[in-house]
Amino acid sequence: GHHVSSQRIRFQRRNRPCRYDIDRFTPSFLSIFESLVPSEEEIAKQKQLLTSLSRLINKEWPNSKLYLYGSCANSFGFSNSDIDLCLSIDDKEMSKVDIILKLADILKAGNLQNIQPLTRARVPIVKLMDPETGLSCDICVNNLLAVVNTKLLRDYAQIDRRLRQLAFIVKHWAKSRRVNETYQGTLSSYAYVIMCIHLLQLRRILPCLQEMEATYFVTVDENNCAYFDQVDKLNSYGAQSRDTLSRLLWAFFHYWAYEHDYTRDVISIRTGRIISKERKDWTRRVGNDRHLICIEDPFEISHDLGRVVDKFTIKILREEFERAANILQFDPNPSVTLFEPY
Ligand code: ATP
Ligand code: MG
Repeated sequence: GHHVSSQRIRFQRRNRPCRYDIDRFTPSFLSIFESLVPSEEEIAKQKQLLTSLSRLINKEWPNSKLYLYGSCANSFGFSNSDIDLCLSIDDKEMSKVDIILKLADILKAGNLQNIQPLTRARVPIVKLMDPETGLSCDICVNNLLAVVNTKLLRDYAQIDRRLRQLAFIVKHWAKSRRVNETYQGTLSSYAYVIMCIHLLQLRRILPCLQEMEATYFVTVDENNCAYFDQVDKLNSYGAQSRDTLSRLLWAFFHYWAYEHDYTRDVISIRTGRIISKERKDWTRRVGNDRHLICIEDPFEISHDLGRVVDKFTIKILREEFERAANILQFDPNPSVTLFEPY
């Protein structure tokens, strides 16, 4: 029946070699990458906003510290993306919600605009717009794990430029095809970047920083975060691999379309390998965690970044991976067709 034949097709495609002329598409993918990178001017504005907000908040809370995290700090941000900030504050008296409400008052007094405290969200935040720079941002409280995983992503990006190029194109594809919407059951940008790091680890373009001797250590909510962060010493690590951007894109989509074993495998950048669902006890549904596509968080290792995916959206995702793999394999104009809006 249908099931058997689609299994057979998948088996045949698994060992399909890449088209011989794949490398000729790299220049057009690179120019798309260049068009998405934020300008120096935009980055300067983000720094300016961080400085002015830090100054304002420190007047009220001298022991607090404001951090940039997410796409504007992990080096995987597009131009014009929102800014994610995290306020670290040690105040035993106040709850997170109280801190958010007080923060909203401080920001009002500092003449920031469109201030909205969202205290009932899973991660409570304050939203605001800065009239000086025109930038919008979200501030959360004491979410230091996000600050640390932001640094890990940024450190990986410094080792080989192909990671940033690949992840930009994958994110651009995911946004164009509407499979970058966690509230609708598809994957976060953070998850896509981890999937790219994993592929480059398998291809020996990136090392596994958490398996190397640690030079950076922090403990955040009982999680020990330790890894080798002297990445300037690793900038020739991937040099033996001559894979071009378009070849890596083909490999990425081919892997998720035809090679990944969705019933058994978990990808893990913490170990630089594929590990089994069995070993993590991720073989059955527990609560809302269905484990239909398993992506281990590098620090919160009980956390599956694929847990938002359900039995409907896993189909959509896998169809999109296949569509992309087939475009890279056969389409005369992959750098256009790949991003056709859904
Ligand atoms: P975009 O350009 O789409 O805004 P982004 O890099 O800001 O991308 P998000 O997925 O919005 O990516 O996540 C922002 C930050 O929040 C990540 O860099 C990461 O630090 C943290 N984060 C997001 N999702 C998770 C998660 N499931 N577990 C842990 N941290 C997460
Ligand atoms: Mg973001």
